[in-house]
Amino acid sequence: MSSGLYIHIPFCKSKCLYCDFNSFAGKDECMAPYFCALDREVEAWSKRLSGKTFDTIYFGGGTPSYAGADFLCGVIALLKNNFDIDPNAEITVECNPGTIGFDGFQDLRQGGVNRLSIGLQSTDDKMLRSLGRIHTADDFETCFDAARCAGFDNISLDLMYGLPDMTMEDWGRTLEKALSFDAEHISVYALKVEDGTPFSKMELALPNDDLTADMYERAVEVFRRAGYKRYEISNFAKKGSESRHNQKYWRLDDYLGIGAGAYSCIDGVRFSNETDILTYIEKTKQKGFAVCGEEVVSLDEQMSEFVFLGLRCEDGISLSEFEKRFGRTIMDVFGAPIKKYTDYGFLVLEGDNLRFLDKSFFVSNRILADFV
Ligand code: SF4
Repeated sequence: MSSGLYIHIPFCKSKCLYCDFNSFAGKDECMAPYFCALDREVEAWSKRLSGKTFDTIYFGGGTPSYAGADFLCGVIALLKNNFDIDPNAEITVECNPGTIGFDGFQDLRQGGVNRLSIGLQSTDDKMLRSLGRIHTADDFETCFDAARCAGFDNISLDLMYGLPDMTMEDWGRTLEKALSFDAEHISVYALKVEDGTPFSKMELALPNDDLTADMYERAVEVFRRAGYKRYEISNFAKKGSESRHNQKYWRLDDYLGIGAGAYSCIDGVRFSNETDILTYIEKTKQKGFAVCGEEVVSLDEQMSEFVFLGLRCEDGISLSEFEKRFGRTIMDVFGAPIKKYTDYGFLVLEGDNLRFLDKSFFVSNRILADFV
């Protein structure tokens, strides 16, 4: 089974008001030394993981496109030199409008990138401003068109619902406009106000839980009608365009994370890297690695995660696969919550398959808490 590679690029042009990712604005002077540090970390891991094969590479952030295609293509070349990378690997770069144009996209294509994830969030300029995004809806359109012209035929876009002052009509317009781009993949996320962000200190008129749930249902309905499959609770794709990289997380496949704050899970051990950029750079100078946390994932945790993450996917989980992986039947471990939620009509057990019924997805977090 091949593994996934995640590369974290923590630089952004400016910080969005809701963002609690490990990303920083105004640290451009760290970019060149940061990429040297990535090189050191790649080389250190390649010695430790010789024999592992990888078939996905994902540049996330931050805003990888803000660092520029040259840096990113340099990392891809280095990964190919140091690891066994499948020639048909899915290679994704997260981009934001206003940070890359046609030439940059062409360079990414030549460097081997074959999938883009472009942040749209909303098609309403007023909402984009209120989120602190650096772009307008027109900027997104220009960016998306440039990516298509450069030959990208596998593009994902991100949308957010449950935004301050958002009405169902606003959301409906955003969904229709988003469909007009005919992207291969769409991700939708509810706004979560995280502690420590500027949003957490502001008085926001957020839609209530019922309206937010209805917004999610509307998205499911609109995307289904347009031919997208909800293959995971927040992710919709045209047939064959599901994100291969993200599916690795949901299936508990191994993945290696490189960069500040990146997480890895390899052979049942979870690693986390230093989050601070300068500490990360310094640590790679001393040791090659920048790991600051390491824990063995217990069998109980692995079983919970298998169910928790697998049920978030529309196809659910295979009972025989559970038994093959863990040497116990799923009913032996989770019989009580499975019975409870199949009796309530939230879960359905059919042959070898356990999955959520359609109506259950929005309340899935409450249900899944019983499997932890
Ligand atoms: S562009 Fe993305 S990573 Fe950067 S601040 Fe905004 S939400 Fe955070």
